[in-house]
Amino acid sequence: MKIILLGAPGAGKGTQAKIISEKLEIPHISTGDIFRANIKGNTPLGMKVKEYLDNGELVPDELTVEIVKDRLGNDDCAKGYILDGFPRTIPQAEYLDKVLSEMNTSIDLALLIDVKDEDIITRMSGRRVCTNCGATYNIVFNPTKVEGICDSCNSEVIQRADDSAETVLNRLETYHKQTQPLIDYYKKTNKLVVAEGAEEVKDTTERVLKALGI
Ligand code: AMP
Repeated sequence: MKIILLGAPGAGKGTQAKIISEKLEIPHISTGDIFRANIKGNTPLGMKVKEYLDNGELVPDELTVEIVKDRLGNDDCAKGYILDGFPRTIPQAEYLDKVLSEMNTSIDLALLIDVKDEDIITRMSGRRVCTNCGATYNIVFNPTKVEGICDSCNSEVIQRADDSAETVLNRLETYHKQTQPLIDYYKKTNKLVVAEGAEEVKDTTERVLKALGI
């Protein structure tokens, strides 16, 4: 199954993507994770994209689409995948359609995790991420068992730099301007399914699995 995850930053895409990826045994591909790993490793790509991430702006399409194209060509993508954070603009969606049609395939579903702006702001300020394995938590809705320590790998859990209050507002604005039009894009081709985000991760998961019919 080939799934796209749509939703505002902080809607819970990453958390749900991990769950779906384990359940369906398909890779979870997050362009945000790929960029962050490159920034951490000081690669040429990392140096090019750092400023965009720091400011809560989108990385230019031409840099982003190449990464995704490479990744989708890997053997582990044969059975399907879940794309988290890509596409984020109409040109990216058109590019993805083109690349997939060249591979004689297409997306099965675009799942929107729908969360109101005011809830997004509360969630993002509480979001924490593991510095080692990337597991995400929320100090209010989904806390670690021991404060500041990852449940899975015992490493330090921190707030992402781009989850700071000012950047969150920028990212939300970017989402409304550039990414929200994708909802109509996938509605037009009958690929869109919607799950309303709930406070508790497990409740959102229940809605997500139902929306995907799995
Ligand atoms: P995320 O982890 O998905 O919230 O992404 C973090 C940041 O990475 C975004 O705020 C953008 O700066 C960048 N990014 C991730 N995916 C994309 C994309 N598809 N297009 C452009 N920029 C992206």
